[in-house]
Amino acid sequence: MTQTPNKYILVVEDSQMFTRMLTRKIESVDQFEVIAVASFNELKLLLAENRHTFFASLLDVNLPDAPNGEVIDYVLDHNIPSIVFTGKLDQLFRDNIYKKGVVDYILKEGPANVEYVISLLKQLLRNQTKTILIVDDSRSVRGYIKHLLSIYQFNVLEAEDGVEALHILKDNPSISLVLTDFNMPNMDGVELTKHIRQLYSSQDLAIIGMSTYGNNKLSAHFLKIGGSDFINKPFLEEEFFCRINQNMELLEHISELQYLARCDYLTGLYNRRYFFEQSKEYIKQKKDGKRAAVAILDIDFFKKINDTYGHDAGDLVLKKLGVILRNEFADGDVVARYGGEEFCFLLPEHSPEQALQRFENLRKQIEDQAFILSDGHSLKVTSSIGVYIGRINTVEDALNVADKGLYRAKENGRNQVVLGQ
Ligand code: GH3
Ligand code: MG
Ligand code: MG
Repeated sequence: MTQTPNKYILVVEDSQMFTRMLTRKIESVDQFEVIAVASFNELKLLLAENRHTFFASLLDVNLPDAPNGEVIDYVLDHNIPSIVFTGKLDQLFRDNIYKKGVVDYILKEGPANVEYVISLLKQLLRNQTKTILIVDDSRSVRGYIKHLLSIYQFNVLEAEDGVEALHILKDNPSISLVLTDFNMPNMDGVELTKHIRQLYSSQDLAIIGMSTYGNNKLSAHFLKIGGSDFINKPFLEEEFFCRINQNMELLEHISELQYLARCDYLTGLYNRRYFFEQSKEYIKQKKDGKRAAVAILDIDFFKKINDTYGHDAGDLVLKKLGVILRNEFADGDVVARYGGEEFCFLLPEHSPEQALQRFENLRKQIEDQAFILSDGHSLKVTSSIGVYIGRINTVEDALNVADKGLYRAKENGRNQVVLGQ
């Protein structure tokens, strides 16, 4: 298995106790490894070595040999995203460090703030997988916003008007947020938002509008046509980051909820409800009556596994089977846990021979697999599979026929694939 390389976190802090606490907390997150120095001088030596690529840094602004935040400029000059610790918070200091381009500042008091640092570091990690599209006709505005977003580690794409934005969106399905100006040639921000909402719901893509302060009617209109949020220009960087992060978090929560609603908690496969939804969608799209294979798999004598080795052993077999099914079937196939120890399948557009062969391969693979329990005990399991192949009118009808095949497979001695009739 390939290991993800460590992400080094640079800590510059003269209090040994605080450094120890931070290190322990940060390194409790997989992937993070702390390299700590206690003075400006040590920092210079470390960065001169050029041995590590730092993912982020945590900086104390009051060090004995750098009492006025000198480390901030030094670390930022080395292009390391920086989070700053301070004992006090005053407006001038806040404005100054944001201008320099730090990620955030944190008051150095109590464990809650250390938890905040950890969540911030995790967020930076997640942001590296997120893409934001900036739409603005001004190259300098785009440049400025791109700079801000890259401090937070986001990937950034740029478009100079709505038309270009739609093209870029089409080519880059990974975009999760669009930041758009309003007044642009060719297609303005309102038109762009209307177009985007015909293609992507607010659950899949956030749109944040940006316009000059005082245009309340425009912002209300924008929110009504599907905008997610609105930022008045000029803005404080701190507010800008809060809005971006809140919208990103909302998308993440929605996608977690969607996952929970669609998936079975034990195996991670789709659940029965989502299987029916997907199958209905498939039938709707194939009005011309294309063929498909629908099947039910049931583990043989599963109750005996629970009775002999315990419920946890049964769970382990189900989970392992989930992994086998995920590996065995491709994106276009729908595979779900039907309930208990039964699984169901919809394989689009296969010839009958091909479909039967795939289920036969699956049956064989399950038969050959050794299921290793937590105590090291090795189990063997077999399965019976009932299959329907043909035109699909309703998935319920197809499943009924497949179920007849399953019944016969059990009757005939189990561990076999039978075509239902
Ligand atoms: P057959 O070959 O006829 O299918 O026999 P079987 O023992 O597999 O079938 P039966 O329907 O009698 O038993 C299924 C068992 O599956 C009963 C139930 O306790 C168990 N089961 C259902 N869901 C779960 C689960 O999530 N975890 C575990 N460990 N067991 C489960
Ligand atoms: Mg059963
Ligand atoms: Mg069974």
